Amino acid sequence: MPSGNSPPSHPAPAPVPAPTTSAVGTTGSLVIVNPATGARIAEVSASTRAHAEAALVRARAAQPAWGALSHSVRADTLRRLARAIRDDPQLTEILIAESGKPHYEAEGIEVFYTLEVTRYYTGRSGRRALRDEVRRPFAFAYKRARIVQHPRGVVGVIGPWNWPLLNNFADCVAPLMAGNAVILKPSEWTPMTSLRIAELWRTLGLPTDIFQVLPGRGDVGQVLGELCDMIFFTGSQNTGRKVAARCGERLIPCVLELGGKSPLIVLSDADLPAAARAAVWSGFAHSGQVCIRTERVLVEESVAERFTELCRIEVEALRQGAAKPPEQDDGIDVGAITFPPQVTRAESQIADAVARGARVIAGGERRKDLGGGTFFRPTILADVTPTMDVSREETFGPVLPIIRVRDAEEALRVANASPLGLSGSIWTRDVARGRALARRLEVGSVCVNDVLVNYFVVEAPLGGVKASGLGVRHGPEGLRQFCRLETIIEDHPLLRWVSPLVARQLMFPYRRRSLRVLRWLMRKLY
Ligand code: NDP
Repeated sequence: MPSGNSPPSHPAPAPVPAPTTSAVGTTGSLVIVNPATGARIAEVSASTRAHAEAALVRARAAQPAWGALSHSVRADTLRRLARAIRDDPQLTEILIAESGKPHYEAEGIEVFYTLEVTRYYTGRSGRRALRDEVRRPFAFAYKRARIVQHPRGVVGVIGPWNWPLLNNFADCVAPLMAGNAVILKPSEWTPMTSLRIAELWRTLGLPTDIFQVLPGRGDVGQVLGELCDMIFFTGSQNTGRKVAARCGERLIPCVLELGGKSPLIVLSDADLPAAARAAVWSGFAHSGQVCIRTERVLVEESVAERFTELCRIEVEALRQGAAKPPEQDDGIDVGAITFPPQVTRAESQIADAVARGARVIAGGERRKDLGGGTFFRPTILADVTPTMDVSREETFGPVLPIIRVRDAEEALRVANASPLGLSGSIWTRDVARGRALARRLEVGSVCVNDVLVNYFVVEAPLGGVKASGLGVRHGPEGLRQFCRLETIIEDHPLLRWVSPLVARQLMFPYRRRSLRVLRWLMRKLY
């Protein structure tokens, strides 16, 4: 059984506890480092194929009983866990230590989101989405079609490193509420939060085989794709393609939540200070390691200079550093880079842009003055053109390129030229125009005069189009996808006598008279 076993080195005085997990077996280890300090905080055992197979056997055995429970019993279970997450200071501490993000983002975003998504799926909307639906057929009006939703079985949830709670355990809530067992594979960079959730789950006496955590490397994620009945994957396009190929071979469904190149479009009539504040927040929250972040700003020429200056002023005011203990206000806006290769990617995109005529308005380099952590200054690039790497490839780091466009039409053309289509934002005082332009953006969701809030409106589906993914999270759609459908056709209770009469006409032996009636009906009805 993997377990955290080395002493924590988070700068907070309170020690980071060493979580244990319900995951099975150990081979090799994962060394977890605090990206804001460079200190090693834990070492956990990495799961192997054998552990995944054993976890699957246990999940399969436990799932039917869980799936047979009523929505309200499952809801009570998940609500208990959500309250335990809310009330567990250690969890926030672990989250901060392994991701390097400010306290505000750990508790105010990740914990808040987990509570909100649990509220939604454990409440009336979740119950309604899973109810049988009865439809009345047109051509066979004496029949009733009952659509029943069954859990798919065991769902593998594979999560990234940027949001160790929000994109990991929180994505298990919907499949669990749909009656599935879940095996969660967090990123090898940030498994501690998921292990802590497994520990809370077990401490509450909840059925451990229904929710299991398998800390491990990519190979464990691959094995889940070979064993589970469905995969919910959040991560990069490259890995997403591999997951989809594996699921395709097995003909099992997968949901893919992949990267984006989300545009923020600023029209000349926009509230510029508000748009600049939003661009900077959505560009640099969690040091830009946010899937629906603003990856590029497209601003109308006439206001570009003023908008750029407003962004520069906002960025200069940002406070960067390692988070302080959760009980203190850490006074930090921008934390560390969780995944070190993101720094190289940012540097290479900046170098390409500058070599091709872009100007660094703010930032542009690593910070070496903040101890042993991995920090990169929030960077604004002006005079960026749509062909530069930073305009085309996902950055997923603290770089905000500003591209000037002639008008809204050019903004749409540039925005839609990307093969990615995750999210977008449009700024204008004319809301109707904003909505009309939003409809023409080829993305999964758009905010008019706001940013990132689309992730927290759990009532509405959120997902990518084009190469940004398949399927959605949130809304009834985000729950129903974890069910397989079964249609049961029955006679209408008052019209049972019709069925044998029709059957006599439709079935063997075929009659000329029946065909004549059918022809007459086809002419009348269609
Ligand atoms: P990766 O694709 O590298 O990894 C995602 C997960 O997949 C990790 O747990 C990883 O394990 C695992 N994995 C690696 N190889 C395989 C494999 N062959 N089969 C199955 N699983 C595997 O993505 P990142 O962790 O780097 O995440 C960053 C990306 O995620 C960005 O592109 C970002 O935009 C996207 N993202 C999308 C979101 C959305 O909702 N659309 C939300 C958040 C992020 P390990 O880490 O141990 O290698």
